[in-house]
Amino acid sequence: MRVSITDRCNLRCKYCMPDGCDKVSMSKILKYEEIERICRAAAELGIRKIKITGGEPFVRLGCTDLMRNIKAINGIDEVTVTTNGQNLDQYIDELKEIGIDGINISLDTLDPDKYRYITGGGDMVKTLRSIDLSKDSGIRTKVNFVAQKDFNEDETVAFAELAWKKGIDVRFIELMPIGAGDSDRGIDNKKILRRLMERWPDLEPDGSIHGNGPAVYYRRPGIPGSVGFISAMHGVFCSSCNRIRLTSQGQIKPCLCYEDGTDMKPFLGKSDVELREALRGAILMKPEAHCFTNAEVAAGSREQRLMSQIGG
Ligand code: SAM
Ligand code: SF4
Repeated sequence: MRVSITDRCNLRCKYCMPDGCDKVSMSKILKYEEIERICRAAAELGIRKIKITGGEPFVRLGCTDLMRNIKAINGIDEVTVTTNGQNLDQYIDELKEIGIDGINISLDTLDPDKYRYITGGGDMVKTLRSIDLSKDSGIRTKVNFVAQKDFNEDETVAFAELAWKKGIDVRFIELMPIGAGDSDRGIDNKKILRRLMERWPDLEPDGSIHGNGPAVYYRRPGIPGSVGFISAMHGVFCSSCNRIRLTSQGQIKPCLCYEDGTDMKPFLGKSDVELREALRGAILMKPEAHCFTNAEVAAGSREQRLMSQIGG
């Protein structure tokens, strides 16, 4: 279950949360105790892995206390976090002490000016430093790269090199038509894989388990690090998708693509059993497949909110 703890962010990535977008009022955001209760109900239903996300999770005060408490829930095996890495240095020691199981760091370019442009003012050096801090702390570290036409298409080889050099996973994520994401600007992951195979003919499928997600991994024999492909648009993985999302406002979204979901707030005033059964019902609403590529199905039911509001 991906848990978005805020829709706020210290960056303004053009495809996620462009400048001037609406923010949700704090009074509508779930309190930490409420998030914890939903996570406990999820654990009772067999959910074992929680990903903390946002918005930018580290802009919400007290987020590490929440992570610590979720880590302590009986039945939860893994708590990981996704971040832009702009202020991870302030939290890394605590994350290590909590025993956080993985940190995914988003980075779309290795050029500081392009980084500043795509993130609306971010500092690439800080994110690169966070990748090193995370790796050096011994926490499983992954980099998320969203490939975009006329922006970073020429950097895919450099990002694979980053994976080999640092011995980490670099994942290529296809741009999805969510919020400000314009899928026409996205790049088919098959094209990226072809380019990497031309550069490294020894690239081979990596069958080892890297997590529980939809990424398909490749590696080079004897070289640390892997490249992963999350191909939501051109390689639909819906039949094996076991994810649900909890938005910062308390909606369970069984699929990223549709705006439908179950508002858990009314059940927070009820007993633990009622809350758990409401969550079960929300999970069972999971559709067979997303509708990103089907205009007819999409009409009327497609998610209109920004990625930062849903929880990426
Ligand atoms: N702020 C954190 C970060 O940047 O990692 C966590 C939230 S962010 C929404 C999570 C991930 O979603 C990031 O890797 C971001 O690049 C990705 N993302 C945002 N909008 C997207 C879109 N339209 N299509 C694909 N990925 C997207
Ligand atoms: Fe913020 Fe992450 Fe969205 Fe960029 S991708 S605007 S860092 S939430």
